[in-house]
Amino acid sequence: MVYLDYHSTTPCDPRVADVVYDCMVDSYGNPSSPHQIGTEAADVVDEARAKIANHIGAFPGELLFTSGATESNNIAIQGLVDGRNSRVGPKGRVVLTSSIEHKSVLKTAAAAVEGTELINKQIPVDSEGVVDLEAAREMIDDDTFLVSVQFVNNELGTIQPIEEIADLTHANGALFHCDAAQALGRLQVNVKDYDIDLLSLSAHKAYGPKGIGVLYADGGPSGMPMQGMSFGGGQESGLRPGTLNVPGIAGFGKTCELLDELLLQETDQYCEFRDILENELVTRFPEASINGAENRRVSTTTNIRFPDVEAEAVLARLKEVAVSTGSACESGAPEPSHVLEAIGLSRSEAYQCIRMAVGRFTTEEELVAACDELDSAISAVQAYAA
Ligand code: PMP
Repeated sequence: MVYLDYHSTTPCDPRVADVVYDCMVDSYGNPSSPHQIGTEAADVVDEARAKIANHIGAFPGELLFTSGATESNNIAIQGLVDGRNSRVGPKGRVVLTSSIEHKSVLKTAAAAVEGTELINKQIPVDSEGVVDLEAAREMIDDDTFLVSVQFVNNELGTIQPIEEIADLTHANGALFHCDAAQALGRLQVNVKDYDIDLLSLSAHKAYGPKGIGVLYADGGPSGMPMQGMSFGGGQESGLRPGTLNVPGIAGFGKTCELLDELLLQETDQYCEFRDILENELVTRFPEASINGAENRRVSTTTNIRFPDVEAEAVLARLKEVAVSTGSACESGAPEPSHVLEAIGLSRSEAYQCIRMAVGRFTTEEELVAACDELDSAISAVQAYAA
């Protein structure tokens, strides 16, 4: 099977899996227990927390462990809205997201403001899938409470103007949250360089284990005007109670250690492979067009529209290639992608797009095989439709 669906998830790197296994067997204690087995597990957590913090330019005490980016996004947005009246913090009424956020941001923002005096609005993107900065300048004002814009889009791979949006947000006294689930392992994410207040990460998007994520909070989670969403013990400053997922955390630490070592050289390799894939498909199907800004895309990703070809029909014919039509979290949904509609594609055009991404374990031979199989499947669907 040629795996080209690295935005949905990534295979766990065997070096990470080894750390997870060793931790499950050897460091099985509850890190909150006072005895030696417990403190050994606590040491594993501390070491991993330091590695993750180091990778994103944060301090270890600024990280809160969660189950993934979905939970991090929920705690950031719902938690800030819930904490708005009870603590010192911005008092604006508007929660802004971009129109192409992951549903864990869009739905949380919509739900969080319900029944409150707050309002949720979306900043539009241009036809290339990049947040419209003119619109952002008009929309972010002194009535803004929170702005949440992703680092990298999960369907197009487009890189958003995070620095500019963080500046605009802060100039208006509001807080800035960034969902960086798709940036980890593709770009160097540095929270201090970009002046990010809250940032969501997930290990499984960058060759780490599933079910472990981080919410970074500038200055530490307990200093943020944010309330937790669940009740229980005092773990993670009481904001995210529950026994820590020590093996997942250890694996996330190793994930970041590997990224420190590999990221730069890997991104060059990704770019070469992605270009081979993209150029080959566009040469074979000259009517195809690329979605997403050419000069603001991560090096792994291509999202291609094949006119008059139903992408789902192509996917159904693929036996040995794994690609997707969009977000895995949306698969099975009858609606076209909100991201593709936001960049101006019609409903029927949105159904003609295939998302592909290369990753750590992609080989050049696999790309040749994938292009051949995609070619046959697309040609067969075209012939059937003709
Ligand atoms: N945000 C983005 C941009 C994503 O792509 C995803 C995963 N599809 C998530 C959030 C959710 O991440 P997780 O699976 O860790 O909950």
